[in-house]
Parts: sequence; structure tokens; C-alpha cells
Amino acid sequence: MAGEPQADCLFCKIVAGEIPATIVRETETTVAFRDISPQAPTHVLVIPRVHYPDGAALAAAEPLVAADLLREAGEVAAQEKVDTTGYRIVFNTGPGAGQTVFHAHAHVLGGRDLQRLV
Ligand code: AMP
Ligand code: ZN
Repeated sequence: MAGEPQADCLFCKIVAGEIPATIVRETETTVAFRDISPQAPTHVLVIPRVHYPDGAALAAAEPLVAADLLREAGEVAAQEKVDTTGYRIVFNTGPGAGQTVFHAHAHVLGGRDLQRLV
């Protein structure tokens, strides 16, 4: 069924507590944890507890959870104190954009100068 945990999904395993992660925030619908290979002083991933392959698929199927995810990204930025200096929320979508884990996730990046991308 849509949104159900996938046996071969790394982030479903983090949600289930089967793989350790440095969790910085949790809600009923989301988990936020530090990226294992940080690209900035603050690099946190915010994921929904439910499994969808990317952020757009999550928003299409469960818009309220997608809103939770985006709000939590902002809460992480505030907790990490990068809200005042500026931060970036990234959803890599598809292998061509560098997506490697096909469980929806937002990267929250901050704490260094982030070059303007677009
Ligand atoms: P993406 O390339 O957008 O799919 O992002 C996947 C992210 O997950 C990458 O930035 C990885 O460094 C990160 N990652 C992979 N395995 C783990 C893990 N076990 N704990 C935390 N972050 C991870
Ligand atoms: Zn998953």
C-alpha cells in the first residue's frame, strides 16, 4: 500500500530504529537527523515516517505530511540557529539530480556561505 515501509529502504530502517542515526527532532509524522556525509556545518535530513520515493510524490499523496516536512525543515533551521544567517532546503529528485535514497527527504543546509544556485 502507498506509504507503507519498504524492506530495502535505508530511511524506513532509520524511522523503525533498525539503523542508528543522530536524530535532532522528531514529530508524529517526521524524523530529522544529521546527514552522514555533511556538505555544510549544518546538514540535516528531514524525512516523513511514511515511504514515498521523493518529495513531489509525498506531496501528491499526503499533502498534510508534506506540509509537516517543510515546517519541520524550518524548525530544524531555527534549532540549528541558521535561520538568521540563511539556509537552503533541497529535494534532489531523480538520479539525474543526484538522488541516491528513494525515500522522500529534504536536505537542510546552512552555517556557511551558500552560493546562489538559481
Ligand atoms: P540524496 O543524494 O538527495 O538522495 O540524499 C541522500 C543523503 O543521505 C546523502 O546526503 C547521504 O550522505 C545521506 N545518507 C546516506 N546514508 C545515511 C545514513 N545512514 N545516515 C544519515 N545520512 C545518510
Ligand atoms: Zn522508505
